[in-house]
Amino acid sequence: MNNPTTPSANLDQEPFYLPVGDEVALFKAAYAQRLPVLLKGPTGCGKTRFVEYMAYQLFRGAQASAELRSIEYPLQTIACHEDLSATDLVGRFLLQGDETVWQDGPLTRAVQEGSICYLDEIVEARKDSTVLIHSLTDHRRILPIEKRGLILDAHPNFLLVISYNPGYQNVLKDLKTSTRQRFIAIDFDYPSVAAETDIIAHESGVDLAVAGQLATLGAKIRHLREHGFDEGVSTRLLIYAGQMMVAGVAPDRACDVAICRAVSDDTDVQSAMQAVVQAIFAESITG
Ligand code: ADP
Repeated sequence: MNNPTTPSANLDQEPFYLPVGDEVALFKAAYAQRLPVLLKGPTGCGKTRFVEYMAYQLFRGAQASAELRSIEYPLQTIACHEDLSATDLVGRFLLQGDETVWQDGPLTRAVQEGSICYLDEIVEARKDSTVLIHSLTDHRRILPIEKRGLILDAHPNFLLVISYNPGYQNVLKDLKTSTRQRFIAIDFDYPSVAAETDIIAHESGVDLAVAGQLATLGAKIRHLREHGFDEGVSTRLLIYAGQMMVAGVAPDRACDVAICRAVSDDTDVQSAMQAVVQAIFAESITG
């Protein structure tokens, strides 16, 4: 099965990504030297979109070489979870009729084809999968495929990218030093209100005025968090609120379902957020 792991994995269109710092230049430099990259930051702040954008720039953009352009799937994205094992990444033998056939996993495909492999939320994965990446991220650049008794040399164009959310982890699930000291680390955070306004407008289709209100709401809720709430709000949820409005839902109700109730089950926290929504959208709600 050679299905791409994401629907847009062949990257025939440029993904929309608004740079927030020097992350584009840093990633390009890391790729030029084939240095593994760790993206750190809270959930829904743009890490996955950034990798898609970089894969497009490197493999499809104006400066991409003919060799890189010829790669069918420049990016293999794997959302890690607690059941994800080395087998899921490397591949497995499957029974087809009377025959046993080998099926490559996404990591093996990237290693062989010379593309980018992105392991999202790596600390969620089982330990055997983190061990796998060690031999790929030092001078050896090899992938052992135990079940086939093979050791693959990574293609020169292969790059490993991982992400994790430092605020979200508990001690047991922290990224081990032996793993993290194999990557350059690029920090991500939620964008400024101005940048988030553009992102929300682009992604949801609301006008800039409403996008600005949603971005302001996001900043205020994140500020509340610093004063005792555990929960922030992701750019993704602000976009959802915009999309609900585009579909005809009133602003306060859209924010209620896409943000307040989505972020927290605690009714006090929800009420505090609803009060901020009322203050920001007062005119549109009464008008
Ligand atoms: P993460 O991988 O950090 O959890 P995503 O990359 O999935 O987050 O981001 C969530 C959504 O927020 C994206 O689908 C995209 O719509 C939007 N987004 C966040 N940051 C940006 C950005 N800088 N440029 C464009 N879109 C962004």
